[in-house]
Amino acid sequence: MTVAEPYRIKSVEPLPVPTRAEREAAIGRAGHNTFLLRSDEIYIDLLTDSGTSAMSDRQWAAMMCGDEAYSGSRSFYRLQEAVGEVYGFRHVVPAHQGRGAEHILSQIAIKPGQYVPGNMYFTTTRAHQELAGGIFADVVIDEAHDARARHPFKGNVDVAKLAALIEREGAQNIAYVNVAVTVNMAGGQPVSMANLREVRELCTRHGILLWCDATRCVENAYFIQQREEGYADRTVASILREMMACFDGCTMSGKKDALVNIGGFLAMNDETLLQRASELVVLFEGMPSYGGMAGRDMEAMAQGVREMVDDAYIAHRVHQVHHLGERLRRAGVPIVEPIGGHAVFIDAARFLPHLDQEQFPAQALAAALYLDSGVRSMERGIVSAGRDPKTSKNRRPRLELVRLTVPRRVYTDSHLDVVADSVQRLHERRHSIGGLRMTYEPPTLRFFTARFEPAGQAPA
Ligand SMILES: *Cc1c(COP(=O)(O)O)cnc(C)c1O
Repeated sequence: MTVAEPYRIKSVEPLPVPTRAEREAAIGRAGHNTFLLRSDEIYIDLLTDSGTSAMSDRQWAAMMCGDEAYSGSRSFYRLQEAVGEVYGFRHVVPAHQGRGAEHILSQIAIKPGQYVPGNMYFTTTRAHQELAGGIFADVVIDEAHDARARHPFKGNVDVAKLAALIEREGAQNIAYVNVAVTVNMAGGQPVSMANLREVRELCTRHGILLWCDATRCVENAYFIQQREEGYADRTVASILREMMACFDGCTMSGKKDALVNIGGFLAMNDETLLQRASELVVLFEGMPSYGGMAGRDMEAMAQGVREMVDDAYIAHRVHQVHHLGERLRRAGVPIVEPIGGHAVFIDAARFLPHLDQEQFPAQALAAALYLDSGVRSMERGIVSAGRDPKTSKNRRPRLELVRLTVPRRVYTDSHLDVVADSVQRLHERRHSIGGLRMTYEPPTLRFFTARFEPAGQAPA
């Protein structure tokens, strides 16, 4: 069955295609790091689904209604109302984006030396937990670390692992449990409602707060509707409310699910936590009634939060990701399965088995894809994982992936076919793709700005 876009095009942005010579010059200048390319050098940009969504006519119209008052902005109350309606949380603390909310949560809820269990790490989340003196502990099910394991809810928390950690360290040494829905680093994999309820029950029993990284909660709600018994006839909106009811609060990057280009928030029910978060937000983000966002940004997000739970919209969004993934899978390209909600993840370890992980296979494949077709993707492997803060050795994650992330409402299936053709061409000549050597390494979040050169080349 053809699933067409539940919207039509009202405004277009021309898309020039860089020549091979231009691409060669560009990737060299960028140190073989796709983050360092200029967007003018790119044909189809699948670097991220973050802040890259196309806004609707209603969102653009709402922006004109932004109230730019320094304090008590009407737009803040609109956002608060939308978050209350869609997520069910009473209080909202706006932030400039997700990591602003993560920073505040980590600072108010972590005492140095405490553990923060989570279902797989996320880069900015863990960085803020560690900055606050916390110790991240991975409690995702084993299947999440296996690109080939097929599990309908591969993002689930391993409740036995979590219980064992609480047993070993004591509930007082757990800052809070942080559950991401979906799990980005595992390939956009969802968590089941049954699992959320079990985790909630365990946390309640031990008096531990349960926080949600709600960045892609709508995609997760859609997977529950499609895959979990008893939810097929429910709306995505009602499933999302039920999911959020399991949590004490959430951090949110509006740049993903909420269909805006910037913004985020922290939401919760507890007044004491609200007060502490409000004290910090003025220091790091802005007044509690704007937190780093303009009034117009809050208007656009309030509207986006309502549009994101439209059943036809979210079904098409996930369908488009699957269209790309299915084309690659049928061509024999190794990808993470099941296909996730926001991106297709190529298994670079199986794509380039002749490279050692220390030769950065995913980074090399992302650079090769750009050279072939001007398509930008992102490394999610050993470069993203960074170094262990204790041993300062490279962390060697089991997943060595290239992420093809589909922005919301931006590209057509034909664009995604161009991407699939290019990946397929590279797969046919995969043995000719060589490894890389890192020539510059920044101290934190190195994947953003690290530089590389072909490993065959003599060091400069
Ligand atoms: C993007 C993201 C964040 C951080 O949000 P920003 O808006 O980029 O700061 C946190 N968690 C997950 C799972 C994300 O994908």
